[in-house]
Amino acid sequence: MARRRLLALIVLVGLAVAGAAAQPQRPRIPPTGTIKKVRDNLYVIPGAGGNTTVFVTQGGVVLVDTKLPNNGEAILNQVRTVTNQPVSMIINSHSHPDHIGSNEYFPAPVEVVTHENTRKWMAANPRVASNPAAMPRRTFTDRMTLGSGDDRIDLYYFGAGHTNGDAFIVFPAHRAMAAGDMFAWKMAPLIDPMAGGSVLALPESLEKAVKGIPNVDTVIEGHGDVNTWEGFRDYVLFNRALVTTATTGMGKKTAEEVAAELRPKFPVFMKEELLTDMEYGGTPWSRAVINVNVVFQELGKP
Ligand SMILES: [Zn+2]
Repeated sequence: MARRRLLALIVLVGLAVAGAAAQPQRPRIPPTGTIKKVRDNLYVIPGAGGNTTVFVTQGGVVLVDTKLPNNGEAILNQVRTVTNQPVSMIINSHSHPDHIGSNEYFPAPVEVVTHENTRKWMAANPRVASNPAAMPRRTFTDRMTLGSGDDRIDLYYFGAGHTNGDAFIVFPAHRAMAAGDMFAWKMAPLIDPMAGGSVLALPESLEKAVKGIPNVDTVIEGHGDVNTWEGFRDYVLFNRALVTTATTGMGKKTAEEVAAELRPKFPVFMKEELLTDMEYGGTPWSRAVINVNVVFQELGKP
């Protein structure tokens, strides 16, 4: 199979997550769930695609990510259970439809903020670009600070991984961070080369985040749970080990053999069971095997 077609196939398998691949018997994606408190003024709404982080500031409510399309009302209903403040800003962690899908439900003066590459991918998507309310008006390259004091938000970008526009969103007053899909579920991330993603670049981008982001102890995953900084660090070690072991094994071992080598050290990220509400995304084990294959593909590129 041509390399490019294999890569496209791998992405399609992963993007079933985003609802992009219509399959007749695709397992259900859970609906928008109940808002959960992470800290005072900081909440997470699960379901219907990626997690939505809710940050209540004096100037209004900041949302990180807006799930799949048609979930705006459900998101707002959950927000209304904790505050009457209007939504004032949306930060999209990256460009995938399960994270930006309901932006347009929150029209101006709500301001949409993203990394500059994420804006580029959104502009290339006719469904998004045709709707000005969904598009970012403000972008950043490496670092940006929004607000001040208890309301301060720090945005960081450290390079390619899941896509090439993944932002880390930090709430310093709460020692908390929303990681987007650079850290989603307890498994290796989907790599989307069609949006600039790279499994070879991923470990370095993650290691820069570990080194460059101070004073965080709570990490909100892009999908799934609220984790710890230690959990994030272990995940970074896992992704580095996956790339190193795959690089060493290339041409000598199958992807399954490489993945089996990693399992004893990283059992958390290599489970062979389907995770709850993640049934559509395969097992952590199967994702690790996919990412070993993506390493082989990227290394084989001329
Ligand atoms: Zn994504």
